[in-house]
Amino acid sequence: MNRRTALVALGGAVVGATATGAGVEVTQAATRPGPHDPLPFYGGFASAIRPDLGRPGRAGSGIVWRADRADRAVALTFDDGPRPDWTPRVLEALAAEEVPATFFVKGVNVRDHGALHKDSIGHHEIGNHTWDHPDLARLDLAACTDQITRTTEAIHAAYGILPVLFRPPYGHVGGSAVLAAAQAGLTTVFWSAQFREDRYTDHPAGIVDDVADTVHPGAIVLGHDTGPTVRLVAIDNLRGIIGRLKGMGYSFHTVSELLSGARPTPGG
Ligand SMILES: [Zn+2]
Repeated sequence: MNRRTALVALGGAVVGATATGAGVEVTQAATRPGPHDPLPFYGGFASAIRPDLGRPGRAGSGIVWRADRADRAVALTFDDGPRPDWTPRVLEALAAEEVPATFFVKGVNVRDHGALHKDSIGHHEIGNHTWDHPDLARLDLAACTDQITRTTEAIHAAYGILPVLFRPPYGHVGGSAVLAAAQAGLTTVFWSAQFREDRYTDHPAGIVDDVADTVHPGAIVLGHDTGPTVRLVAIDNLRGIIGRLKGMGYSFHTVSELLSGARPTPGG
C-alpha cells in the first residue's frame, strides 16, 4: 500500500468510525488526511460541534486580533513563559518603563517557574497559552479542553486568579480549539503586529523602527519572553521599543483593558 492509498484508507476508517459512534481516540489517532480526503464530521479537530452532538457549555465567546479603537493605545503580549531566562528581563524593562503587559503562559512553566510572576498580578495580565504548546489545529475537543483546563488550574493555583484570555500556540486553531476555548469562557486572542526579530539579527536596533512602522491604534503585539536566541533582538531593545512608541503618543494596556476601551470606529 503506497502512502496515498494508506491515507485514503485512513480517511475512510475515520469517517466510518465516527459515523458508527466509535471512540474519539480512533478518530484522533487515524486523522492525517490528505488534501482531498474527507475530514471527520464530529470528534476530530476540524469540527466546532461537540462530538456528542450536545449543547455547548456556553452560548459563545469572542475571537480578537486587535482592539477596535482609534486612539493610540496598544497591548504588548509575551508568550511561552514564565522561564528564568528572559521573563525577569522583560519584567524589569516593563517596570522601568512603568507599562503593563499581558503574558500568555504555558501551564508547565507556571508549574515549574510560577514564582517569576509573583509580583505581576494586579499589574500585568496572565492569559492561558495551553499546558505544553501543542498544535491545537491537530487535536480533538477532549485534548484541546485538557490543555486549556490544566493550564487554567495551574494559573489559579499559582496566582489565585482565573484567566479570561486564551492564545492558541502558533495562532493555529481548528473548530475543536475554538469550541474548547468558548466552553472554558475564554476570549481567543490572536495578534495584529509582532516583533519580527529574525529580520534584524544583523542590526538589532532596527527592530525599534520596524515596530514603530507596524504598530497601529488598538494593536495587540506578539512577543515572547523565552525561546530561541534570535528573539533576544526584541528583549535587548524592549525599552527602546516602548520608548519609541511612547514618543509617538502610544499608551500601554493589558489586553483586557485594551478591549474594554474599544469603541467601534468607522470602517473598523
Ligand atoms: Zn507560544
